[in-house]
Amino acid sequence: MEFKGSNNDLFSSLVNTGLENLTDTPIFHREQNKKVIRKVETKIKAVEKIYEKKIECPVCSRKLPVKIVKSNYIRIESRDTDFMINYKDPNPLFYDIWVCLECGYASPSARFSKISNIKREKVIKNICTKWKGKKAYPYYYNEDTAIEMHQLALLNSVIKQDKDGEKAHLCLKLAWLYRIKNDLANEKKYLKEALVGFLKAYEFETMPVAGLEECSLMYLIGELYRRTDDKSNALKWLGLVIVHKRAKPKIKNMARDQKDLLKELY
Ligand SMILES: [Zn+2]
Repeated sequence: MEFKGSNNDLFSSLVNTGLENLTDTPIFHREQNKKVIRKVETKIKAVEKIYEKKIECPVCSRKLPVKIVKSNYIRIESRDTDFMINYKDPNPLFYDIWVCLECGYASPSARFSKISNIKREKVIKNICTKWKGKKAYPYYYNEDTAIEMHQLALLNSVIKQDKDGEKAHLCLKLAWLYRIKNDLANEKKYLKEALVGFLKAYEFETMPVAGLEECSLMYLIGELYRRTDDKSNALKWLGLVIVHKRAKPKIKNMARDQKDLLKELY
């Protein structure tokens, strides 16, 4: 008797056992192999564009791996009016926070190793002693991973009592990550927090704040008011940039554009 289907040879010794008809059942699902190949391809692409290095956690002194997007793979697509940069994949914004999974310390990469003894003690007391740990993040970060890491960095920043400008910058980046997810409600929530922090920073901190000189920060405050639907304060701050003697032509033009946009809308 002949076996039917493609598994003939694989079950050839089962002839005349009464199980001949079962041999059509595939041993493996081939379409799953395609999925695996796609996963491997994505990982290979990620390995090409991202490199990993080991650094020492300044809080618990353990070695931890951090990921960095190779600079020759950073491609800017466009810029939003609140200074958000849209990148082609991979997005460096996703990799900007370094997290120690051993102790829960997290910070923007540029400031990761710079922590005073007083702040270190605050992190140990309030974060490390409560941290239950977390499994490793996926190799290739997406906006959800980045949100998790930024929220942890923000909490660390609050505990360390960092400058308002630093906390505001983290809130602004969280708003951008929610914008990537098209989650407008959460985006606005973080834009409002960023606005509160930048207003305090404008009043009490020395420039630059979050890398911004005075006029750029004034413009950003106006733009955040505009994006959170406070027309009168937006017009006031954007107007201040337009008449500011030290404002550069580029930032004045941006302020004029956003002011015109407001006038058109209302
Ligand atoms: Zn650590």
